[in-house]
Amino acid sequence: MALSKEKTEEIVKKIEEAINRKTGQTGFKCPICTNDKFSLAGGFTNDFLMDRLGGGLVIGGPVLPSVPIVCTNCGNTFFLNARVLGLSEEFPKEEKKKEDVKKNE
Ligand SMILES: [Zn+2]
Repeated sequence: MALSKEKTEEIVKKIEEAINRKTGQTGFKCPICTNDKFSLAGGFTNDFLMDRLGGGLVIGGPVLPSVPIVCTNCGNTFFLNARVLGLSEEFPKEEKKKEDVKKNE
């Protein structure tokens, strides 16, 4: 499911603010081609975290919520951790799941 235009703009703004705040500079550039225009790939990714290579996929297991960002010139794609960027509120279901796990411990 793709993000709406409004949601995408809101998230891009949050990401820009977070990068500027964390690097202390504005005008982030692509490390490959130095272009300064980026787009979101249209959503988030949740990479599954595994405790060993070759392990089976655990549905409902721990994930790494990330925002894929694409350079509009060369296509360089990199992933920023959504939690570190302060976008945790974009993952309400996952946060709820974590609370459920705590209750069961
Ligand atoms: Zn680039």
